[in-house]
Amino acid sequence: MKLEAQTDLRRRLEQLEGDGLMRRRRVVQGARGAWLNVDGRRVLSFCSNDYLGLASHPDLVAAAQRSLAESGVGAGASALISGHDAQHERLERRLAEHVGAPRALCFSTGYMANLGIVAAMAGRGDTVFSDALNHASLVDAARLSRAEVEVYPHADLETLEARLARCASAVKLVASDTVFSMDGDLAPVRGLVALCERHDAWLLLDDAHGFGVLGHGGRGALPHFGVRSPRVIYMATLGKAAGVFGAFAAGEADVVEWLIQRARSYVFTTASPPALAAALLESVRLIERDEWRRARLRDHVARLRAGLRGLPWTLAPSETPIQPLIVGDNRIAVELMDALLEQGLWVPAIRPPTVPAGTARLRISLSAAHEAEDVDRLVEALRALAARRSPRAALAR
Ligand SMILES: *Cc1c(COP(=O)(O)O)cnc(C)c1O
Repeated sequence: MKLEAQTDLRRRLEQLEGDGLMRRRRVVQGARGAWLNVDGRRVLSFCSNDYLGLASHPDLVAAAQRSLAESGVGAGASALISGHDAQHERLERRLAEHVGAPRALCFSTGYMANLGIVAAMAGRGDTVFSDALNHASLVDAARLSRAEVEVYPHADLETLEARLARCASAVKLVASDTVFSMDGDLAPVRGLVALCERHDAWLLLDDAHGFGVLGHGGRGALPHFGVRSPRVIYMATLGKAAGVFGAFAAGEADVVEWLIQRARSYVFTTASPPALAAALLESVRLIERDEWRRARLRDHVARLRAGLRGLPWTLAPSETPIQPLIVGDNRIAVELMDALLEQGLWVPAIRPPTVPAGTARLRISLSAAHEAEDVDRLVEALRALAARRSPRAALAR
């Protein structure tokens, strides 16, 4: 006899299917680049966070191979036991120098970094203020911390200030994405820093999509906005523009020391393979050196936005490589994704709960790995699909 819980689970899966919310993975084979081999077909990808086209760069691959030959694959233990390798140490120094912070600490993933940072900095009786559109890892981190959680309306400094002003907690921590991952818009970083100064709060900035992309030399959101403050705990991931895997926190030496002592997702996990650190050292070098990758990315963004003007869907106002085309209905988003994939163009449909209900979208990600013609192909395909759905909108072109 089946458990009642099993029947219930089956019903919930069917509900997802019925609501157009079922997610399916596709199998990718071979190196990551603009073109991917998916389920045996070559498709042009607009769904990667490899913004600078570094994920398969031969210099990164060679650095990882050298390290693998010398150091093997596994770190063997958590960092505080015996897993902290010379390559991890070198990478942390290099990252601190790169972003202009006194000290940096590497985590296995961005998700784990956020869990560890927030729960180490805030606890019972403290308050975490979180932007309504923050990444799921910051949402989960706030919950895990057991602090009071105050979700403020997206980028709304006025509401945030009012809530900070009446908050009596000893520790206040404001957490925000710098580049919002599903919308591509930027947080009001200067305003956030000013508020945290005024109200004696920490500011955790998650620069997952800004690191490598924003700022001179790809140094991220802080130089982009021209801010520097001992209250800022900077966090960025290394699996996106950096093209590898992992994440780091950077800030004042005492903050980083505290994270080493108390961030549970750092303390209680195996250190990452040293070869990843070796690849990342190479990646940071290329991020700093290759300004052309960012220039090319900016050209692609401008090209796409100009090309998609006048479509019946809303291209969200974004200057970053994340370009969301908001179509609203879950099923339309999936139909468009499927129609594009038929033509060999892979653009993911993003649906609730990743984004608010009624804002399903195609999330177009651009990369320096793309050619201008690649962007043109996507523009033409979307214009043709729009014309098929609403001939009048196409005439307005
Ligand atoms: C991707 C992402 C993360 C998680 O990073 P991983 O290294 O993939 O775990 C955290 N925050 C934001 C804003 C992200 O986009």
